[in-house]
Amino acid sequence: MTASLVRAALDRAAAVGAGREGLNIFVAMNPDAEADAESAAASRTGDPQPLEGVPVAVKDNIATLETPTTCGSRILAGYVSPFEATVVERLRAAGAVVLGKTNMDEFAMGSSTEHSAYGPTRNPRDPSRVPGGSSGGSAAAVAAGIVRIALGSETGGSVRQPASFCGVVGVKPTYGRVSRYGLVAFASSVDQVGVLSQSVEDAALAMGVIAGRDPRDATSGGQEVPDYRAAVRRGATGATPLAGVVVGRPREYFPDGLDGGVRERCEIALNMLAKLGATIRDVSLPHTAYAIPVYYIIVPAEASSNLARFEGVRYGARVQAETVTAMYDATRSRGFGAEVTRRILLGTYVLSAGYYDAYYRRAQDVQALITADFHRVFADGIDLLFTPTAPTTAFKLGSISDPYEMYLNDVFTATANLSGVPAISVPIGNSGGLPVGGQIIAPHFGESSMFAAAAALEGALRAAARSGPAS
Ligand code: GLN
Repeated sequence: MTASLVRAALDRAAAVGAGREGLNIFVAMNPDAEADAESAAASRTGDPQPLEGVPVAVKDNIATLETPTTCGSRILAGYVSPFEATVVERLRAAGAVVLGKTNMDEFAMGSSTEHSAYGPTRNPRDPSRVPGGSSGGSAAAVAAGIVRIALGSETGGSVRQPASFCGVVGVKPTYGRVSRYGLVAFASSVDQVGVLSQSVEDAALAMGVIAGRDPRDATSGGQEVPDYRAAVRRGATGATPLAGVVVGRPREYFPDGLDGGVRERCEIALNMLAKLGATIRDVSLPHTAYAIPVYYIIVPAEASSNLARFEGVRYGARVQAETVTAMYDATRSRGFGAEVTRRILLGTYVLSAGYYDAYYRRAQDVQALITADFHRVFADGIDLLFTPTAPTTAFKLGSISDPYEMYLNDVFTATANLSGVPAISVPIGNSGGLPVGGQIIAPHFGESSMFAAAAALEGALRAAARSGPAS
């Protein structure tokens, strides 16, 4: 029975053209997937596991044993990790089967999955468009109906923005909620593993499985993991499940230039939240505009240091040369793509003597102000915030060539990463035939109330779509 779920996923992948010539969703398939499903079923003694036989897709920067972990980079071509990520171990222990590794922007740097050594992934909703990024392959695998659940990673929006572009659910947990053991480090002060899924309930289920303290990751928190599925059920119970909940609408996330379709879907979703019992209040998070400049100082700084380990000695590919330093140079010049190189240069610059205080230290000061904005509204009676996930719908492949314009995709998501709060993107309808995502942001370790509100909104929007005119 359970092997058939894997078979069905593989058939679906073939039917939608998930391969390199088509949507280009996977960079490697797990050769043992069907056998894993059978042996897990055969060795079970007790009740069925919550994810028994359920195929999951895993972003290529999360370590798995049967397939390489390459971060979408030439520099890690063929690299197979000697250990497995805790999140993968936990999913397997809950019965899940790894179907394959998904395409991504190289080292998770990007918002379109165009910066991959394997070529771009295409959006299943419109293959002329990007799926978002950097977890674009995982979002596409869910949107194409191949898997219910996929793992991604977040440093500035890489789960939520592709979820928004592909019309699926995407969760970034609180910093410290989920172990990063086995997640290839990008910017360690903000990196988190996230989940993409077809429904809020599946996101809650997967998050409940992967969350919690891991002795192998000192940044993982010991807080008890609440029953997130119970929160989802609460959100789906009664006519006004959000009675008593105060939702803030931060004005900085609805700027004048916001895409009209995105704004309209967000206003409809806010009305829906009000009908579900929530009180909507206008609020201000005044330091929001500094998120992108701050992000592009702190994150490249950490990346330049984390990526120093890829020099052709310990991992992946090596380009031979006369001397060791020439070998490093040749390996890194050939192994890293243009965006990764740009980030390493930026990061090395802002950390260099004389510039550290002017850039890195000041950026950290402003990061504290962005975090203080969230603390203030949450201390002021606001339970959750509602915003657009991304400023636009999915754009055409190749249409953004200016790096700074690409960075602006994260204006509404990077704030949660910089301050560590959890956030979820939920599909809130279409604009011009393309999906729009709405974002719910919660206080630190407030995932339960976030899941409850997201489930309520998802249920109400699905009911409205069934009864009303097509959006
Ligand atoms: N788009 C952002 C970047 O390029 C975020 C990436 C991420 O969250 N991994 O850095």
